[in-house]
Amino acid sequence: DVPVASFSCSQLCVGYLSNYHPIPMVFSKASGTCVWDPEGNKYIDFLSAYSAVNQGHCHPKVMKALIEQAQKLTLSSRAFYNDKFPTFAEHVTQLFGYDMMLPMNTGAEGVETALKLARKWGYKKKKIPQDKSFGILEFEDLCLFSAHLFGSLDFSDCLCFTLGHLLGPLALLRSKALIVSCCGCFHGRTVGVISMSCDNDATRDFGPLVPGHLKVKFGNVDALEKIFKDHGEQICGFLFEPIQGEAGVIIPPDGYLRSVRDLCSRYNILMIADEIQTGIARTGRMLACDWEMIRPDVVILGKALGAGVIPVSVVLADKEIMLCIQPGEHGSTFGGNPLASAVAVAALDVIKEEELVKRAEQLGQVLRDQLGKVQLQFPQIIKEVRGKGLLNAIDLNHKALSPVSAYDICMKLKERGILAKPTHDTIIRLAPPLTISLEEISEASKAISDVLEID
Ligand code: PLP
Repeated sequence: DVPVASFSCSQLCVGYLSNYHPIPMVFSKASGTCVWDPEGNKYIDFLSAYSAVNQGHCHPKVMKALIEQAQKLTLSSRAFYNDKFPTFAEHVTQLFGYDMMLPMNTGAEGVETALKLARKWGYKKKKIPQDKSFGILEFEDLCLFSAHLFGSLDFSDCLCFTLGHLLGPLALLRSKALIVSCCGCFHGRTVGVISMSCDNDATRDFGPLVPGHLKVKFGNVDALEKIFKDHGEQICGFLFEPIQGEAGVIIPPDGYLRSVRDLCSRYNILMIADEIQTGIARTGRMLACDWEMIRPDVVILGKALGAGVIPVSVVLADKEIMLCIQPGEHGSTFGGNPLASAVAVAALDVIKEEELVKRAEQLGQVLRDQLGKVQLQFPQIIKEVRGKGLLNAIDLNHKALSPVSAYDICMKLKERGILAKPTHDTIIRLAPPLTISLEEISEASKAISDVLEID
């Protein structure tokens, strides 16, 4: 009774490290919102490769740009100039309203770049001294700091308390430009980036982590203000996701982003928005920060900037920030390559031409309305339906209360031709390509309802 697709999965799991927990389904072909397995079964994609395929799989306009550019020139490296990168730079800076961009490839590289930029700005512009002692941190900060260093999940748990005491000597932080990031954040997998993670699995046995980070509760303005008040002199940047995607589509309270903007301006701290998952129309705005009409100092984009075709990421900022990095101080062999540049220009054009911002907002509302009805049918299973645009989550009651796990439901949805992936034990993220149709949304809602009915 082993489904054919899962049989082919086990055949494919040879010769590489299983560093993921995939749903047993093999992608063989894809177009728009649909994916086919090697046996020809069709599925609707409700993950979009973690929001990297906002334009739909193999979008014809993007593929045309890819093929045409591939036949002409793929890589110059930035040891020379190429004639495609400036078009991309102009396009992306104009569209998002920043003076300059810095091109990278993956999201994690974009985040690393933004952190380096923030530190450099901290020393050069904010004039954070590099060798002065800033004295003893308060106990609560110490807990956060040590919890963070040791990858403990919740700063208020007693482990942090103990570590706070043990790490007393560490409290005497020598002055360095510090970055504040949020509990529950996900910004990628490099050592610098996991140094901000509170997820034990992401950090265990990968230390020593990079120092110079402070943690704050996501969505809590008072906590952020306290950290800024106590250590603002030393802080160069506040890095955040406007909606925490990997944490389970966690949406901060209304007004949070605006308050963050105000605090960052007041304390002369760079507001750094990681819009790698939330950006490029995913949440029903071009950037999720547009929901509160605020302009971060630094924006990081990735994923859908390459339309799911090629890795492209950028850091956007104005001149007085960006020019802190001088020639020779940062770079990437493939960053700004002509192939990625051509793809990114086409990827952004598709978003505009097909009005995917509006579409994400409208269809996201339809999806949540339909799922809200499913929740009313199964209140014992579904705790909450939430989201913005087409970045949504079904939050299930904890296992002890609910007969089914998020993984069980995703497995059953797969049998019904809907591809979704759990994030954590109890959350199913629903993030289809923004080109999805009303009919496909209704098909998915019906499948979810049917799957829960059977249980
Ligand atoms: N930042 C956010 C908000 C993300 O969601 C991700 C990936 O899921 C990343 C950064 C890392 O991107 P990449 O996997 O391209 O390195």
